[in-house]
Amino acid sequence: MHAKHSAPAAPGASQYHEVMVPNYAPADFVPLKGAGARVWTAEGDELVDFGGGIAVNSLGHCHPALIEALSEQAHKLWHVSNIVTNAPALHLARTLCERTFAERVFFCNSGAEANEAALKLARRRASIKHGTGKRTILSFRNSFHGRTLFTVSVGGQPKYTEHFGPLPEGIEHLPYNDIAALDKAVTDETCAIIAEPIQGEGGVIPGNVDFLKALRAACDRVDATLIFDEVQSGVGRTGALYGYMRAGVVPDVLTTAKGLGGGFPIGAMLTKREWAEYLPAGTHGTTFGGNPLGCAVAQRVIELVSAPDFLHGVETRGQAMRQELARIGDAYGVFREVRGMGLLLGGVVSDAWAGRAGDIVKAGHAEGVWCLVAGPEVVRFAPPLNVTEQEMGDGLARLERAVQRLVSAGG
Ligand SMILES: *Cc1c(COP(=O)(O)O)cnc(C)c1O
Repeated sequence: MHAKHSAPAAPGASQYHEVMVPNYAPADFVPLKGAGARVWTAEGDELVDFGGGIAVNSLGHCHPALIEALSEQAHKLWHVSNIVTNAPALHLARTLCERTFAERVFFCNSGAEANEAALKLARRRASIKHGTGKRTILSFRNSFHGRTLFTVSVGGQPKYTEHFGPLPEGIEHLPYNDIAALDKAVTDETCAIIAEPIQGEGGVIPGNVDFLKALRAACDRVDATLIFDEVQSGVGRTGALYGYMRAGVVPDVLTTAKGLGGGFPIGAMLTKREWAEYLPAGTHGTTFGGNPLGCAVAQRVIELVSAPDFLHGVETRGQAMRQELARIGDAYGVFREVRGMGLLLGGVVSDAWAGRAGDIVKAGHAEGVWCLVAGPEVVRFAPPLNVTEQEMGDGLARLERAVQRLVSAGG
């Protein structure tokens, strides 16, 4: 028998490599407590959180209404499985159907699972309706759809599939925002097109409205399934409840997760009745999908976020943040462009800072602001949708100090 030493009392980032699979490279601080857009760390620092748990904490940390929803449900019922249905799941599904194009909802636990369901549904529908030859999934370079083997293969970043083969077949990757390439690739064998209305991980790249319309037209032409992956762009992030609403292009299937639970893990696939019929009883499932705790929290998130005043506020705060980021970018020559929608913004680094988005994020940590990257060329901002003026002002002032410090240290 091996005696184990008990763990030291205070968690420190340095312990990570003693106990964790090293598939992440965590920052050197450990958040212990959060409120709104602020977190306090084990190291005794306070940070303004412009990352929002990677576009997850849509209402900030520990929002009182979400604490209430979670604790109310925690006193009633935690889990029942899908052998039965449950009240919070039915309520949330009805709300999502009322407030979006959807007529049917499938619940799961993450973005990857929502996309896995969407892709399986598209394949099954095409196979039953048109035969097994209609199986090609068209996706876009630099897209991100999750880390299961199917979703990572559909995603457009080859480095994420290296050494994981053999990979699922029948997937083609096209350049994003390129209508000519799209029209050339779409054939009767096309089973589905999957796209993010705004590419998040790939660098905060908005899809042109004409491009998104062309996706819809192409799918209509060959009876393929149009899947919008709104795992990052959904739940108010762009200033609309879902990004497709801004473009006015309605998909057949929409996937949502990240912001849906405001920090509680939940995902969903929204679809139309005709599509839903291709997943009859027994064809797909997941143990935790529709879990009452997750659905109760997501219910409150959707109610708060879908209020027109709230969404208008996202747009207003997004514009203010974008302007200030552009000013900082110009003043210190760090960003050549600030792009995005609502409160999903990306500062694209200038030539002088090529490949160094991560250095800017790291300098921010030292000044008390927590931002994200979206690849090596883009500093990404996804603060809580209800970030206050004070939080935003403090965070941006800290970011400016960080940039100033980097620049004056000679880059
Ligand atoms: C994060 C993300 C996913 C994957 O979601 P997980 O919850 O990590 O599985 C899928 N698609 C998009 C667009 C994302 O941003």
